[in-house]
Amino acid sequence: MKHKNNRKRYIYRRDGGLCHFCSKELLYKQISLDHYLPKSQGGPHDIFNLVCSCKGCNKNKKSSVPEDYKEVMLELFKKACKDGQVTSLGIKKKDLLLLIYDVYRVEIIGEYTVFQSHIHRFYVKDNRICKIVRVETKIEDREW
Ligand SMILES: [Zn+2]
Repeated sequence: MKHKNNRKRYIYRRDGGLCHFCSKELLYKQISLDHYLPKSQGGPHDIFNLVCSCKGCNKNKKSSVPEDYKEVMLELFKKACKDGQVTSLGIKKKDLLLLIYDVYRVEIIGEYTVFQSHIHRFYVKDNRICKIVRVETKIEDREW
């Protein structure tokens, strides 16, 4: 599958060819793609939940949940939008980047990974933003 290989190449380049866990330099053919939040814990198959891993680390990690998985997913989601790997409903990339730059929360809701900024919630599935919902913010929650 060409699509899948492109994705794997992107992740390899994005992670600088290093194992996410032990920082070992890996050849392309040596990498495993690790679900950072394990599939068994509801981790999605999207690009922002996949990291480069050596075979050993992938095996050792099994289905343990990394403490920083939310931070990692937020960072990788923003990067994937910037790199055009996560797309949306005909929104231009530069507009999308403005919308998502301050996402600060992520949760798994059913089949979606939901990223939230102070104004919007983004429902993501299969590397696509399928739905954007405006969040009502109460005046007293705002920062000014
Ligand atoms: Zn490793």
